[in-house]
Amino acid sequence: MKTKERIKIIEELCERNNIKIEWRKSEVNSGIAYIKDRKIIIPKPKSSSKLITCFHEISHILLGNIKPSYFEEYLAVKKSFEFMKEYKIPISRKIKKKEIEYVAYSLQQAIHRGLKIIIPEVKHFIKKDFPDTALGLHRYI
Ligand SMILES: [Zn+2]
Repeated sequence: MKTKERIKIIEELCERNNIKIEWRKSEVNSGIAYIKDRKIIIPKPKSSSKLITCFHEISHILLGNIKPSYFEEYLAVKKSFEFMKEYKIPISRKIKKKEIEYVAYSLQQAIHRGLKIIIPEVKHFIKKDFPDTALGLHRYI
């Protein structure tokens, strides 16, 4: 898939959902979502990895504010996977792992802040495909 096609997907999805886009000028693969302003700052989707980042930030706008924040990240990652499926764009194992590790990282932060009870579906999501790569979380989950 060409970058142009990926940009079209993102632009149409944002237009349909009343989301403003600001394209990042740098090549950094990360984004920001301003939920109240319905605005996202995202990288140009020059790769499927960057496209997932775009879907991730759109998902944050669609989901709204959710607590705890690791659960919010989990839902955004899950929804970005659903978007990829909807548009029939395959996710490589490497990218999937990176995204799941991000959820694991968010969870790890929450545990360090004193979280005791982990929402079971998040636990399952992290362990399902990559049981060995939960960033040392095996001690907890
Ligand atoms: Zn996020």
